Amino acid sequence: MAVLFLKWFLATFGVFVGITLIRAVFHLPKKKEYVPLPEEKVNRERAEKNLSEAIKIKTVSYPEEELVDWAEFKRFHDFLDEAYPLIKENLEREVVAPASLLYRWKGEDSSLDAVALLSHMDVVPISEGTEKDWTHPPFDGVNDGEFIWGRGALDMKNHLVCVMEAIEDLIEEGFRPKRDIYLCFGHNEEVVGSDNAGAHAIMETLKSRGVRLECVIDEGGAILPLKIKGIVDKYLAGVGIAEKGYVDYEVSVLHKGGHSSQPPKHTALGKLADVIKDLENNQFKSKLTPATLDLFNKIGRNVSYPARIITCNLWLLKPLIKAVMKRIPPAASLIRTTTAVTMAQGSPAANVLPQKASVTVNFRQMPGTTAEDVKKHIQKVVKNKDIEIELLKSKEASRFSPTDSKAYKLIEELCMQSNPDNIVVPYLVMGGTDACFFEPICNNVYRFAPFVVNTGLLLCTHATNERVPVSILPEGIAFFKRFTRRMAGE
Ligand SMILES: [Zn+2]
Repeated sequence: MAVLFLKWFLATFGVFVGITLIRAVFHLPKKKEYVPLPEEKVNRERAEKNLSEAIKIKTVSYPEEELVDWAEFKRFHDFLDEAYPLIKENLEREVVAPASLLYRWKGEDSSLDAVALLSHMDVVPISEGTEKDWTHPPFDGVNDGEFIWGRGALDMKNHLVCVMEAIEDLIEEGFRPKRDIYLCFGHNEEVVGSDNAGAHAIMETLKSRGVRLECVIDEGGAILPLKIKGIVDKYLAGVGIAEKGYVDYEVSVLHKGGHSSQPPKHTALGKLADVIKDLENNQFKSKLTPATLDLFNKIGRNVSYPARIITCNLWLLKPLIKAVMKRIPPAASLIRTTTAVTMAQGSPAANVLPQKASVTVNFRQMPGTTAEDVKKHIQKVVKNKDIEIELLKSKEASRFSPTDSKAYKLIEELCMQSNPDNIVVPYLVMGGTDACFFEPICNNVYRFAPFVVNTGLLLCTHATNERVPVSILPEGIAFFKRFTRRMAGE
């Protein structure tokens, strides 16, 4: 019997291996011919100069509004007027709540759903004590011929300037949009979960006027080199089709206070230690979303032959992929709501027993998990039922935008036309962007920055020596010109 079973098993396994070896050969990207794009005219010199100027204006945002230097935002608005005279002449511009900008380029038929290009004008502050670490001062906008240096060079004055350059060029070239085009520039994107988000006010303004948007393009994914020797040598163009949420909860344990000379077995802090352990040991369930699977599938079709023997069996490897991803924090954050215990507080003095001990826990929710679901999760996994849970701050996760919309397909097509070695993939954005505020008036919300950058450079955003290679600006401008022309011209 056992021999028979072994024979049957080996035969089945042999057939499986045979099929796999053949399938792997044909496991290739879906064939589609992309005609290369004609050269796009861009004003490189003007773009570089304007980005340098934009960086010099200190549009720093803070959670405490009284710290914001509003005069700098006014300077930024004036700078845009001066730098882009055709936009000033041809687009309506209004200042929204209290320093965001909304431009409207009226199309021939305003009844059509409009196109919105987003950027934020604000930047994060320079961490105290790090000013001297910069190769070039963070607000000088130095252009050394290879890089433009400064806060906002990558996040995201580069993007904003490229959008402006594209629209200025299109006006000059006599392009007339069929549908309305909106440029929406928020003033406080970097203040996470702000109740007074400028982008939210812009959306409310548009909504009150009955505007519907065909698509929104904001910061998010970029084009990253994907090189593993002998396996893959391509570029990964990530289009963010959703973003995670953000919620801070304070979890507290109450206890009788008193003098520390006569302590109980466990103080409030001691009991809180169990709460922390419960939270960390009981993570949210992980799930490979269709977007993540699509990402793996697209990459899997682009690797070399022996590696494809593995990647063509993704369906079989799902549990293994999940298990591995759960162990690598950056990968785990793609597949589950994350839990990070970040701050703790006990009594105010060393010799006083705490009457209340609390921790702040930051969660990043997967789309589909609400801040309320997170609270229920805390109540469920923490064994101590005598806890207090207080919501400090929250921003819900976005929805998933489709990958078969006109806008998504156009992004994909333009990426492939400009470089056939691009792999265009949908993905889940970890951080927050202004884009999600537009969901009430738009189904197709994408987070994509058309810039080729390596991971090393990306790590300097929000950090020391933020800088952008000048060589990537023309492609960015060209993308926005082509995208606008195709989206609003047909
Ligand atoms: Zn940003």
